[in-house]
Amino acid sequence: MILKCIECGKEYDPKEVRYKCECGGLLEVLVDLDKVENVFDGKNITLWKYESFIPVEKRVSLNEGGTPLYRLENLQKELKMKELYVKNEGANPTGSFKDRGMTVGVSKALELGMDKVICASTGNTSASLAAYSAKAGIKSYVLVPSGKIALGKLAQAIVYGAKVVPIRGNFDDALRVVVEASKELGVYMLNSINPFRLEGQKTIAFEIFDQLGFVPDKVILPVGNAGNISAIWKGFKELYEVGFIDKLPQMIGIQAEGASPLAKAFKEGTFKPFEKPETVATAIRIGNPANWKKALKAVEESKGLLESVSDKEILNAQKLLASKEGIFVEPASASSLAGLIKLRDKIEDDESVVLITTGHGLKDPNIILENFRLPEPIEPSLEAFKEVL
Ligand SMILES: [Zn+2]
Repeated sequence: MILKCIECGKEYDPKEVRYKCECGGLLEVLVDLDKVENVFDGKNITLWKYESFIPVEKRVSLNEGGTPLYRLENLQKELKMKELYVKNEGANPTGSFKDRGMTVGVSKALELGMDKVICASTGNTSASLAAYSAKAGIKSYVLVPSGKIALGKLAQAIVYGAKVVPIRGNFDDALRVVVEASKELGVYMLNSINPFRLEGQKTIAFEIFDQLGFVPDKVILPVGNAGNISAIWKGFKELYEVGFIDKLPQMIGIQAEGASPLAKAFKEGTFKPFEKPETVATAIRIGNPANWKKALKAVEESKGLLESVSDKEILNAQKLLASKEGIFVEPASASSLAGLIKLRDKIEDDESVVLITTGHGLKDPNIILENFRLPEPIEPSLEAFKEVL
């Protein structure tokens, strides 16, 4: 296994603490694919089932992965599609896909002998980092945009025992401070610039193939900091390279309109960060995605695309998924369904599509309750109940 720069190709020893190349390029972990095992039998699915693909020796685990893949029978009928699924990552231990990256990332921290870890977060990353650090018995620091973090996520980070530091600024500002702190203060950075995070997240691809028994035509997912789209694509590519699969899916990334520098870059050809990202989907409220180059590469290589959706479309999709399929996800997660609805014309009726939903709806209950008023209480009698029916 080696660490290799995606820009200049320079290689590094994975035993050294390093997040980026000397040239500033992102690093990628190249796994020894001649040693991987074909365990894809559809049974006993957990993240660590695929350990031969995961480049760490230690293991800090809370039984992550093995999340359900649902067939959306009601919605596929409404959308006149043949095969529509959702991979619900909200079913991970802390309620988001971030646990996949953190089980590997915190394991790597221990391997490197680090006893303090840090991240910038819109919420889910901080909850996950805090939980895995607690399990590992190490100290965690999380920097969050002041006042812009969903309540459930904040509660998680606090109860797991992280040092939570709100900053006057957005996610991108928080990440800048974290990058500097990791250089100066000897803390291990576990944002998705850290290539080992993506090694955990790539297992979403493994599970989709393991659960379906085939590779779907399209995978649609929310894009914020853009680590996940890069990671899932890497997972499919590894399966392809070792010959376990003979086709690759198209990767379709969905951003919220107010935070859509990648969707814009895809359409206009040049990447420019959004100075003031704004969306109700706080988990993808990111103006300067750290992994933007990897993400554009994933989309280009897979002949996929990037699209943006409005907050209204996102909230509508959130309601649809809950009321038609019984799956409650946070707003950012619903952007994958919102994207599918917007792009429906570009998808053949008989194509198989997997939507990724990244986080649990209970992390951000306010968004639902803000727009709903409970009726006045009634007298505790059957008569009174009948009146309100
Ligand atoms: Zn380089």
